This record gives sequence, structure tokens and C-alpha cells, in this order.
Amino acid sequence: MTLEQSEFPKLSALLVEDEAYSRMVMARILGKFGLKAVAAAANGREAMRMIDAAPDAFDLIITDLQMPDVDGIELFRHLRDRNANTALILASGVDEKLLRMSRNLAKAQGLRVVGALKKPVSSKDLMIALQNVDRPLEPEIPSFVNDLSEAELQEAIRNEKIQVHYQPKVNPQTGSLMSVEALVRWDHPLHGLVGPDAFIPLAETSGLIDRLTDIVVDRSLKQAMLWRKNGIDVGVAINFSAPSLTELALPDKIMALARSYGLPPASITLEVTESSMMHDAVSGLDVLGRLRMNEIGLSIDDFGTGYSSLQKLRDLPFNELKIDRSFIIGAREDRDARAIVEASVQLGKIMEMRIVAEGVETKADWEFIRTLGCDEAQGWFIARSMPGDALLEWLRDWHKTL
Ligand code: C2E
Ligand code: CA
Ligand code: CA
Repeated sequence: MTLEQSEFPKLSALLVEDEAYSRMVMARILGKFGLKAVAAAANGREAMRMIDAAPDAFDLIITDLQMPDVDGIELFRHLRDRNANTALILASGVDEKLLRMSRNLAKAQGLRVVGALKKPVSSKDLMIALQNVDRPLEPEIPSFVNDLSEAELQEAIRNEKIQVHYQPKVNPQTGSLMSVEALVRWDHPLHGLVGPDAFIPLAETSGLIDRLTDIVVDRSLKQAMLWRKNGIDVGVAINFSAPSLTELALPDKIMALARSYGLPPASITLEVTESSMMHDAVSGLDVLGRLRMNEIGLSIDDFGTGYSSLQKLRDLPFNELKIDRSFIIGAREDRDARAIVEASVQLGKIMEMRIVAEGVETKADWEFIRTLGCDEAQGWFIARSMPGDALLEWLRDWHKTL
């Protein structure tokens, strides 16, 4: 969609801005976009009155932060107290850090923030934010479920209710499929498909994690073999909990499986989050060293979020760096996040590591990522995770959209 043809005929917006000039400029941009209706409030208090008078009238609220009397942050509170379901765009002249903090604050209060823009707001940025109003990025599957028990998980493992889905990673320049990340799911009788954040901690504390990991490893390597038979040469990345990496037999186990499925070891990567690493330094180093000597890939996951990451980067034999999605999402409009991403890419390059950017959610993220020179990109803009037999069809569609 180009700027000229952009239209949002179903959208009603409330513009909250105390400066008359900014209000006029934004109203004009919104007018050009063809919204159904645009109302304006000259301050937070007026906005609160309008929202209370017609709670369902606005699909979207675009608000300044610094305003006399009731400011933007107080307005968040008001919206939260009313369980407001409208989308929210912040548009402010405050500095990047304060803008980001405000966005996080609004999100933490359960508000649906679709953009945090720096004033003066450009038409393009506003349009990208508006495009997100209609299409909220829902999580794939629930990642929080109450009362999951160890016994249930044990039964699920026994009854083969553990599934593995795969999320593609592509070369950002050419779009070609490079590898997939294996993501575990639990097909729960009550809750349906449940995400790993809901049960990996349980698996770790109950000692079921190694069996779970075994299932994921075996399933995904077998799947890689099947893809290969269909002519798709694709690498597989598997998430490992740190304690599993102290099992001295692990390298031999993976090498044996790779051999039996006819996979080159270099097509297999283990992803480990940096924050969880190295409980047991000696056996950990033993395993990591032997994995790398056998050419199995080692990826430092969620890079940038853990402790002493630079030290680990220096001392451990990782050959891939995976920049955490919290830095990628919205990096295009966030100077500080962008700086972290760019510095991580450079650091990785100097250390001759492969660099993966995860969390490429929107077209804007994708365009930003393509300027960076990373080796692989992963995220909902490219594809959500899917069962193994859906990959071929996705690949055909993906090439068509490129
Ligand atoms: P992770 O390693 O950071 O994996 C990526 C997660 O981000 C996945 O969530 C994926 O669905 C989600 N994701 C992908 N693209 C996007 C995007 O564009 N935007 C956003 N907001 N999210 C995106 P999932 O499947 O719920 O996995 C959560 C975490 O669970 C993983 O985080 C990983 O640390 C862990 N995990 C997954 N499978 C396994 C496993 O087999 N073993 C272990 N130990 N941990 C696993
Ligand atoms: Ca991962
Ligand atoms: Ca990650």
C-alpha cells in the first residue's frame, strides 16, 4: 500500500495533543489517510471525558505524553482502569529513553501499543503504526497456563502429546530458506496447544527436561531428513536448557543421530540462552568444545539480555549470535535499540560469527534488518512456527510474495 492509496475507512481515532499546531498537522495527515472519524482533545482531561462519554467510540487513541494538567501517563492509568481495548499510539517530543519507558509502561498496564513515535511525526511512521491497529499480532499459542502438573507432563511425554513446530529463518538479502528453529509444543487435552514458556520451567525442575529434549532432537533431525528427501536442504536449530549441556555423552549422542539420519553435523545448531549458561563450568566446556570440534553449531540465544554476555562471547566457542527479539521489534523507530543491534552485528562479525536477528514482526522490521548485514532473519513477518509437513507449502507462498 502506498501513501496515496492508504485508507482506513473503518478506523475512528481520538487525537490527544495540547499544542494546537501539532494537533493540526496530525489531524491533516490522518485526514489524508481516510479514517472514518478523527476527534481531537486539547488535553488529557478532555480526552478522559470523551472516552468516558463514549467508551467504545475509538478504535485508536493517539496521544502526546507531556501535557498540562492530565499528562499521557495519567491517561494510560485511566484507560487501564476502564479496561480500554483501543489501540494506542504515543507521539511525543520526549527523548528516546523516556518514550521507550512510556511505551513499556503502557504495555505493562495491558494497553495495546501499536506505535511510539517521535515528534514531529512523519506520514510514513504514522501509516505503519495505523496498519498495526487492525492486525494486532496475537501470540501463536498461550504461553501461560495455570496448574500444569509434573504428572500431566509425564503422561503427555508417554502419550506422544509433545509436538515440534518449526519456524523458518531466511537470508535477508535473497529471502532463501536457510534453516528452521525447532519449537516444542504440548498438545494439552484441556488447553489445546500450549507454548514452551508454560512448561519448560516445570520440565527443568522436575527432571523431565532431558526426555523432552531427546524427543525434540530426534523429531527435528528426522524431519530434516524428510525435507532433504524432498529436495529442501535446511539446517535445524534446537533449543537446549543449560543443564542438558553438562551431559558428557551429548556430543556422541547427537553425532550418532546425525549419522543415522544422514545429516551433516554442520546443519545442526544448538541454541542456548546466555543467561542460563555455565552452571557447571568444566563439564559444560567439555561438551561445548566437543560439539564444536564435530562441527555442530552453537548459538548464543537472546543475545543482549543476560549477564556478563561479553565475557561469554569471548570465552565460549559459539559460532552464532542470535540477537534477542526485544531489540529487533521496533528498532527502526528506536535509536537506542538500533544502536544495540548494530553494535551486536559488528561485534559478531569481527568474531566471525553468524548473526541471526529474531523477532522480525513487521515489514518495517524486515526492511530495517535488510540494511544490517545479518546472515539470517526470523520472525512473524516471514513466518510463524508450523508443523513440519507445512514447510513446503509455506516456501512456495513465500517465494511468491518476495
Ligand atoms: P526463543 O528461543 O527466543 O524462541 C523464539 C520464540 O519467539 C518462540 O516462542 C516464537 O514463537 C517466538 N517468535 C517468533 N517470531 C516472533 C516474532 O516475530 N515476534 C514475537 N513476539 N515472537 C516471535 P515459543 O515457541 O513460545 O518459545 C518460547 C521459548 O521457549 C523459546 O524462546 C525457547 O527459549 C524455549 N523453547 C522452545 N522450544 C524449546 C525446547 O525444545 N527446549 C527448550 N529447553 N526450550 C525451548
Ligand atoms: Ca531459541
Ligand atoms: Ca531467542
